[in-house]
Amino acid sequence: MNKKTIKDIDLRGRRVLVRVDFNVPLKEGEVADDTRIRAALPTIRYLLEQEAVVILMSHLGRPKGKVVPELSLSPVAAHLEALLGRPVAFVEECVGPEVEALVATLHPGDVLLLENLRFHPEETANDPDFAAQLASLADVYVNDAFGAAHRAHASTVGVTQYLPAVAGFLMEKELAFLGQALQNPRRPYVAILGGAKISDKIGVIRALLGQADTLLIGGGMANTFLLAQGYEVGDSLVEADSVPMARQLMAEAGQRLLLPEDVVIADQFAAEAESRVVAADAVPAGWRILDIGPATVARYQQALAPARTVVWNGPMGVFEFPRFAEGTFAIARALAGLDAVTVIGGGDSAAAVQQAGLADKMTHISTGGGASLEFLEGKELPGVVALMDR
Ligand code: ADP
Ligand code: MG
Repeated sequence: MNKKTIKDIDLRGRRVLVRVDFNVPLKEGEVADDTRIRAALPTIRYLLEQEAVVILMSHLGRPKGKVVPELSLSPVAAHLEALLGRPVAFVEECVGPEVEALVATLHPGDVLLLENLRFHPEETANDPDFAAQLASLADVYVNDAFGAAHRAHASTVGVTQYLPAVAGFLMEKELAFLGQALQNPRRPYVAILGGAKISDKIGVIRALLGQADTLLIGGGMANTFLLAQGYEVGDSLVEADSVPMARQLMAEAGQRLLLPEDVVIADQFAAEAESRVVAADAVPAGWRILDIGPATVARYQQALAPARTVVWNGPMGVFEFPRFAEGTFAIARALAGLDAVTVIGGGDSAAAVQQAGLADKMTHISTGGGASLEFLEGKELPGVVALMDR
């Protein structure tokens, strides 16, 4: 990586402002899934070993510039305290005199979590004064929030105007694995694309089409490709506007692009829907495709078998409904059994692999939903660009 990391600078005794991605789901005032918090621990622990003063900042949800008590980071501070096994101070603001006074009392080895950055509209507006106020709390800035790196906000880009700015370990790891998959894949390289909409993913499909040896298509986006082949897809989710694009992608990819040959259909969009397996060109009127079928799973497993690199974004079906989760879980199992670098991008895809109980069998599961997609598209992430070059 061509960016400096926390290993490249002296942090001993210094106040370090760390942008983390603690945008975690909460349930009844408690952290419901702490994957993102755990992912930041290596950086936090390293800073503590260096006897730095650790000041953490994050956003949570979309409070849209107002104080929304349900989106306070306070439960996250409590959870982090348990994970770290040491006290984590919390302050109900992220800038201003109260925060400054508290920071002045901190000693090396102390950890402080600031309140939700997005309670201030200046955060997403990348307001220079707000960024300067954040920066004034510390001597060094660390960005470990890969999941927020695709946004040019005060805490991801603005602060770097005022402080030496380096990457944390999570940021470094994300860039290494996603970057390797794009730039230096061991071959054969298979990309799996699914999820809801083709229009969300055109850039990713294009980028992966330029790199991968084989593209496996599933999920809702496959429906638009089936439509482009002239099949009837009943009441399936489709984007008629994207049919010409799908046709063009199929023409460009030729034999490298595989589409479902059979599908699991439902008589309604519901967990308790009646389900049937039919050929992809035999979806009756009034039914909708909610998963790939067993013949498709077998075909995709066969295509995956020789793979040395696999990138997967987008579930193969509506895995939130157990009856329509088998295609997604079967692909997850196939990846788990490969001797290959397996990289998962996208928030729902990561959740699906977790649900399948196979997260620890993957080489890398990105913590960044939107950021991983933009990175896979080949876009530069502003939060990364802003860090110091090596
Ligand atoms: P990611 O977050 O991994 O990038 P997406 O957000 O693109 O993935 O897509 C995930 C969503 O796609 C899931 O909520 C899933 O229910 C939905 N989905 C998958 N297959 C279908 C389908 N056949 N019809 C409708 N929705 C689908
Ligand atoms: Mg999603």
